[in-house]
Formats: sequence, structure tokens, C-alpha cells
Amino acid sequence: MITIDHTGCVICVGCASVCPFGAVELVGTRMKTYSEKCTDCGLCIKACPANVITLHKGIKDVKDLPAEARKKL
Ligand code: SF4
Ligand code: SF4
Repeated sequence: MITIDHTGCVICVGCASVCPFGAVELVGTRMKTYSEKCTDCGLCIKACPANVITLHKGIKDVKDLPAEARKKL
């Protein structure tokens, strides 16, 4: 699951660039998310300079990801 706080998003498109699953993309002037495609891998929160992405269970930082997921970053 991915959600973005659009008020803080700087539209750098970093999240979409690193997502292997196409779970986020730029549509017009706003990042659009597709939570059903998201695997909570954490790559996008690692890439986001504005810290505005939240994954499942309220995870907003790579340090809060499960150890198995952190190993793959
Ligand atoms: S957590 Fe992984 S799969 Fe989900 S949107 Fe971010 S990069 Fe894509
Ligand atoms: S990486 Fe963060 S700031 Fe950049 S487009 Fe994605 S959500 Fe917005």
C-alpha cells in the first residue's frame, strides 16, 4: 500500500523512477498511486526527498521496514 501526502510532494518523480512495479506514476501535475500493485518494498521511501510517502502500517521511513525488506534496499 502506498499513499502520498500531496501537500508536501515536490513532484521530483523519484518514487516512480525507482518503483519496480509501476505502483506510482506522474499523471498531469500529480503523483498517482496504485496501491494494489505496491509490494511495500521500500524503494520509494528511500528515494523520496520530501518524506511524504507512507506504506503499509504507517511506515514512512526505511528504518521501520521489516528486516527482510531492509536487506533488499
Ligand atoms: S514500496 Fe516499492 S512497490 Fe510500493 S510504491 Fe514504493 S517502490 Fe513501488
Ligand atoms: S519521491 Fe516524494 S517528493 Fe518525489 S514525486 Fe515521489 S512522493 Fe513526491
